[in-house]
Amino acid sequence: MKCVMKNCHNEAEHARGVCPRHLKEHRKAIREGRTTWKELVEAGWALVLDTCLFPECESESVTRGLCAYCYQTMRDAVKKGITTWDEMIEKGWAKPAQPKSQTKRTRLYFIEQSKKEKASEEYI
Ligand SMILES: [Zn+2]
Ligand SMILES: [Zn+2]
Repeated sequence: MKCVMKNCHNEAEHARGVCPRHLKEHRKAIREGRTTWKELVEAGWALVLDTCLFPECESESVTRGLCAYCYQTMRDAVKKGITTWDEMIEKGWAKPAQPKSQTKRTRLYFIEQSKKEKASEEYI
């Protein structure tokens, strides 16, 4: 299967339906809080898959967007004062109890990717 991103002819090597390059880009943007997998799926830039939000973790998400293992690890870290849930949410590594709007920041990522799509069209 080919990568779901427009103008990308690389093979998708991930259950998300994207090539390693786009997976890396998506993940980076998600980590920076510029988009979410949900938005990417809605835009047709990724396939639905409820995986753990923690970077590099591909396990199925169970609680607050995290898999059982990461949730446990994070809960311990929060308890020990190493991190806080707010910090985790800000990084996009966990879901808030009540999802807050990220529209403003995520919009930018979409504009950037659309520009890239346009640019690559012109080069063909
Ligand atoms: Zn791609
Ligand atoms: Zn995980």
